[in-house]
Amino acid sequence: MSFINIAQQKQIVSFKEAVLNPIGDNKGIYFPREIKKLDSNVFASKDFNHIAVETLYNLTCGEIPKVQLQHMVGRAFNFPLSVHSLNPQLHVLELFHGPTLAFKDFGARFLAECLASFNKKQATIITATSGDTGAAVAHAFHGKSDIDVVILYPKGKISKEQEQLFCTLGDNIHTVKVDGDFDACQNLVKQAFNDNDIKQAHNLNSANSINVARLVAQVCYYNALPALLDKPIDKLVVPSGNFGNLTAAMIAKAMGAPIDHLVAATNINDTVPRFFMDKTWRPKETQRTLSNAMDVSQPNNFSRILYCYQKNLETLFDDMSAMSITDEETQEIIKQQAQQGYQVDPHTAVGLKAIQDRQPTFGSNNNLVVSTAHPAKFADVLEDILQQPMELPSAITEALHKPNLSKPLSNDFDDFKDYLLAMS
Ligand SMILES: *Cc1c(COP(=O)(O)O)cnc(C)c1O
Repeated sequence: MSFINIAQQKQIVSFKEAVLNPIGDNKGIYFPREIKKLDSNVFASKDFNHIAVETLYNLTCGEIPKVQLQHMVGRAFNFPLSVHSLNPQLHVLELFHGPTLAFKDFGARFLAECLASFNKKQATIITATSGDTGAAVAHAFHGKSDIDVVILYPKGKISKEQEQLFCTLGDNIHTVKVDGDFDACQNLVKQAFNDNDIKQAHNLNSANSINVARLVAQVCYYNALPALLDKPIDKLVVPSGNFGNLTAAMIAKAMGAPIDHLVAATNINDTVPRFFMDKTWRPKETQRTLSNAMDVSQPNNFSRILYCYQKNLETLFDDMSAMSITDEETQEIIKQQAQQGYQVDPHTAVGLKAIQDRQPTFGSNNNLVVSTAHPAKFADVLEDILQQPMELPSAITEALHKPNLSKPLSNDFDDFKDYLLAMS
């Protein structure tokens, strides 16, 4: 039994149980009960799949045999992971070489493998997306038998490229555009999970970043950092919205990945940076920004980070810091990088700004910024800023030509409930 419900700590379940029922008693979410160091041989390996198998075996306490993990990892992580160095002291970890051009392919594809192997009956996955989860989940599950997927997203608040990538698939993929922001979508999902009529009609599961399958999948690439870079990392900057990716980096650090300090970079939705300043949790209304996948003011995953540091909050402030970046600063970085021949998407730009402000101009610092999406995924934003057309990968041009199949709904729970009950 390897996962603990952070809101009801007497509830300890297996990985499989946590994946199939991601919300436990008292609406709690799960976290590894204990984080054990990885053997140093694993960090010495250059083989990403081997590192991933060892990471997942460790975090799930051996619950899934290594041969099975090997198959799952082989199918889920079937695309490259790479590092681009901007200069000898500053590197970019490109996590966007998967089918939907954002890091969420890692988590979504591993979750799809888990559900395909753990689930023995028809299931309905409901998830809210601030942009990229939708595409990653839709592509990971499209055509998987016995699984229906319902994806909610905030109408008019995601890019055209993002929207077309997942709202054009059809078949077992159902998309809903909600008149509201991401937090409103997330609330509808939470309410659905608490509704008995819906639970009776559907065998529900969630694919958003609260699912531990996504979390553990994301730890794998941080544990692969020694395979990609020959020096330990001083500051690792993670562009953050719902804080799943930062939580994964925190777990990797605890497992022994050579990372000295984590920096969460947010846009002006700055609940966490303000928490680091005055230790109070005061979410404001979500504001729209250029880095829309991070337009989150009540990040679900932050409770996992607090859970880890509950006994010693002061060490949290040693291990991590947080910064908020404006849209003007984001645009500046996009222009600056383009001039130097490297295009970055707005989320990655937020991360780069955070390190630019903190990287000393002297010394031998070795810092890394996580690049969460391919620049072409935000072509409309980049074309606007750079005033030049962008070449798009075929995954995007093909999707742009297909009809959008989304169902528009209000942010009223009753409407969503009717929709779900009519589906079954
Ligand atoms: C989801 C997403 C983020 C934020 O990741 P979290 O794990 O929610 O903090 C950042 N950038 C992009 C491109 C994303 O899709």
